[in-house]
Amino acid sequence: MSKTKILSLLNQDTFSKNDLVYLLSFYNKDEKQLIFEKSKEIKQQFVGNKIYLRGLIEYSNKCTKDCFYCGIRAHNHKVERYTVSDADVLNCADYAYKNNYASIVIQSGETKDKVFIHKITQLLEQIHQKTKHALKVTLSCGEQSPETYKTWFEAGAHRYLLRLESSVESIYNTIHPNDEKHSYENRIQALKDLQTAGYQVGSGFMIGLPKQSLEDLASDLLFLQDFNIDMVGMGPYVEHIETPMYKQKDFLIPQEDRYHLTLLMYALLRIMMKDVNIASTTALDALNPTGRIEALSVACNVLMPNLTPIIYTSNYHLYNNKPDSLHSDKLVAYIEKHKTLHGNNIAFGEHGNSKHFENRKND
Ligand code: SAH
Repeated sequence: MSKTKILSLLNQDTFSKNDLVYLLSFYNKDEKQLIFEKSKEIKQQFVGNKIYLRGLIEYSNKCTKDCFYCGIRAHNHKVERYTVSDADVLNCADYAYKNNYASIVIQSGETKDKVFIHKITQLLEQIHQKTKHALKVTLSCGEQSPETYKTWFEAGAHRYLLRLESSVESIYNTIHPNDEKHSYENRIQALKDLQTAGYQVGSGFMIGLPKQSLEDLASDLLFLQDFNIDMVGMGPYVEHIETPMYKQKDFLIPQEDRYHLTLLMYALLRIMMKDVNIASTTALDALNPTGRIEALSVACNVLMPNLTPIIYTSNYHLYNNKPDSLHSDKLVAYIEKHKTLHGNNIAFGEHGNSKHFENRKND
């Protein structure tokens, strides 16, 4: 009975919130395999079997925000603050260039400090100079003014990842302090500003937040579609002991369920949006050692090996059990270990721009 209904729903072109809630309800049941099969088929058809690399530089954990879930929030005084030196950033970029990653991501805590803004601009210019403009660069440095987004775009940033964390305003407001610095409206505006500035724009959510329902997750998927997002980075919420939200750990669904829900969210997004880039996020591996490989086989097409020098990484501690399973020097061994990557191949040397972005620009 449910099988017939699922199959007929999956053949629709558009999905209502009710359809998505129904499909999400199979996250811990065998029927979800039907959804995974459809997602794999669409992935093959629209983005192929290539996995694009994004070498990740966790540039700085200095943050002016106080998000209730995040291990590098300003009020966590147990974390040692760092900023990667210019020389180390350039070495990471050079490593990505020489190893044919084709793309890097610079991610950091959030600050609108002028010195920081200028530093990112300079680094972008130096990276491109050193790597002969061969790398595509994604920034993930939080909410900034339209002018800053423009400056960074002109200095050579091509893509920007800014997660909305939850598209449901009431949830957003319970996981962030209630002040100007953490406003839902400003975050949406920042996403619009990024589109205006010309970036390939990425967003995403945490999955399995306290009191988050399947309706809320269905809204998240619909948000990405309505917003015409090009790239998606969403992953399971993983509690961090030094954060205010840790108190709510007993109200969470089990980690295993969060893991399965995340995979199903990837699959449904692939079916809905078809040509977007979906990253297989690091947080998945905190819940299941082969999580990221599973996600790549089901729906994702982007993998982010970590390039950050080891001396810094223990302080970029966003959540408990953050894995170091895919540091860049282990990439070759990782591919070897998961030999076939379920029929996917790493696309060394290819930029892997979001096809959705290219189609959006041509429309
Ligand atoms: N400050 C930047 C990005 C740095 S944090 C920005 O706001 O864009 C990168 C991402 O880590 C966040 O967007 C959030 O979704 C994720 N994250 C933080 N704490 C987490 C947690 N406890 N569990 C899972 N993901 C978390």
